[in-house]
Amino acid sequence: MLPALRELWTNLVRHRIFPPSCARLDCRSTPLARIWHRRPPIRMQNTWLCSPQCLELQLVSIFDRIALAAPPSVSSRHRVPLGLLMLAHGYLNEIQLQSALAAQHQAGRGKIGEWLQSLGFATDRQVVAALGMQWACPPLLLREFPDRQCTFLLPQPLQKVLRLMPVRWLAATRTLYVAHSEKVNYPVLSAIEQVLDCRTVPCLVSDRLMDRLLEQTGTASHHVRLFDRMSGSAEMSRIAASYVVRTGATEVRVAGCGPYLWVRLQDPDATDLLFTAPRSAEKDPRLTFGTVTSLQQPLARVFAEHAVRSLPTTQASSHIG
Ligand SMILES: [Zn+2]
Repeated sequence: MLPALRELWTNLVRHRIFPPSCARLDCRSTPLARIWHRRPPIRMQNTWLCSPQCLELQLVSIFDRIALAAPPSVSSRHRVPLGLLMLAHGYLNEIQLQSALAAQHQAGRGKIGEWLQSLGFATDRQVVAALGMQWACPPLLLREFPDRQCTFLLPQPLQKVLRLMPVRWLAATRTLYVAHSEKVNYPVLSAIEQVLDCRTVPCLVSDRLMDRLLEQTGTASHHVRLFDRMSGSAEMSRIAASYVVRTGATEVRVAGCGPYLWVRLQDPDATDLLFTAPRSAEKDPRLTFGTVTSLQQPLARVFAEHAVRSLPTTQASSHIG
């Protein structure tokens, strides 16, 4: 109740009387003009923009910066190979591992975990447990279906393309548990933290369970707008600014996330805008988003401090507002 009242006071009174300075150095709006404006300032990544026009200009520079940042690496090159881990833990014997590796090599496709399962050498649960050791990330043993209220926090196109699923939201600590079925995608988790202003905790589920979760999320309704083949940052910024005006959003959050540029407009019902790489630069590998810009704070992580054997369910129904 108290935070809601404070927000009301900040938005309706304080920012009208003492509008925060605009982040654009080229802003022409004077403090008096800002007071006269009926529209409250727009918050974006710890800065303030006085108008949709200034927001549009600021978005152009942010989009350019994200597009030019180095692509994130989600390599497992420096981790102990999954097969060796399973061998060391007695899930397999050497002959089984060699047979699975030979089958994988011969077929020229598939993950070793999949081959071990299809040859009957390992179970779903053993592969997930080994993945958990490989990525220092606890396996998620679901005793109930994930919290449906939180699945919408990650737009459905992102869930599908990245094979990730939010499974539990703890409002008190603003913590989101995100299920993976293969490599833990830390750059994407950082992008989620940036956009949702929360902390994320990765956990692992089997491929089969992830397929089921992705199928079941199909009916979730949420305001997501997908924009394909944009001509560049200017067009994307124009669209985002026009949505800010249309929805009356007071906060905008932006991050590169997988193949998309994700813009979240914080209005009473959050609206997500997803832009794909600009048409003119589709072949440019730098434009695979999923990176954290220099605007975004480096995130200290403490993983594996507590096993997610059974996720807490209290406060799970509340969501980011
Ligand atoms: Zn301005």
